[in-house]
Amino acid sequence: MKSAQILVVEDEISIQTIVRTYLESSGYAVTVVDNGPDALVQARQLQPDLVILDLNLPGMDGMEVAARLRETSGVYILMLSARGEEADRVAGLRIGADDFLTKPFSPRELVARVEAVLRRRRETAVATPTLYLFHHLTINPDSHEATAVDQPLDLTATEFQVLLELAKNAGRVLTRDQLLGLVWGSDYYGNDRVVDVYVGQVRRKLQDATGQLLIETVRGIGYKFVDVKK
Ligand code: CA
Repeated sequence: MKSAQILVVEDEISIQTIVRTYLESSGYAVTVVDNGPDALVQARQLQPDLVILDLNLPGMDGMEVAARLRETSGVYILMLSARGEEADRVAGLRIGADDFLTKPFSPRELVARVEAVLRRRRETAVATPTLYLFHHLTINPDSHEATAVDQPLDLTATEFQVLLELAKNAGRVLTRDQLLGLVWGSDYYGNDRVVDVYVGQVRRKLQDATGQLLIETVRGIGYKFVDVKK
């Protein structure tokens, strides 16, 4: 199997070196750049499977790089931040990062996070070819496409997974923990706030496209996808 291609965007030499060493010894193909503009160029040329993106970069910061990447690609993004504040984490996730790691981090934890993110993609790739059909929405797990009112929905990779798991369980409540396990994996280290952020984004996009509230909040428990008929 071709090894996964990872683009590392980081300006600190010591972190570049350790990240490259650990990822290469885990079998990944690694390209390192140290600024935002180069990151955008390499992302176009390499079509990487995952981008590891530092927030504090000279010139163009990581949030802006992530936003630009998201305009053209659904590539997985793992953000690195020295700040690690809740506000940064939420802002990063809102912009479409799939995971967030605070410096200083252990290189082994970084490799574990990378494996977890890439595993999501493989699990999706072998999913049975089924279409999920609803009155306002069609979901194709194979092509990773969701269509609302005949228009493709613009979802990030993680948003798509959140929608797919909710839709597979239409009419049933999924708890935050269940969603966390289904989408982020049982070895996810973060807290379940990430679930609320993602469900909120998916719900808003569905509502913009269909005018319907298709994901209900079940207070104190979790979320439920509802197939609204009219
Ligand atoms: Ca930096």
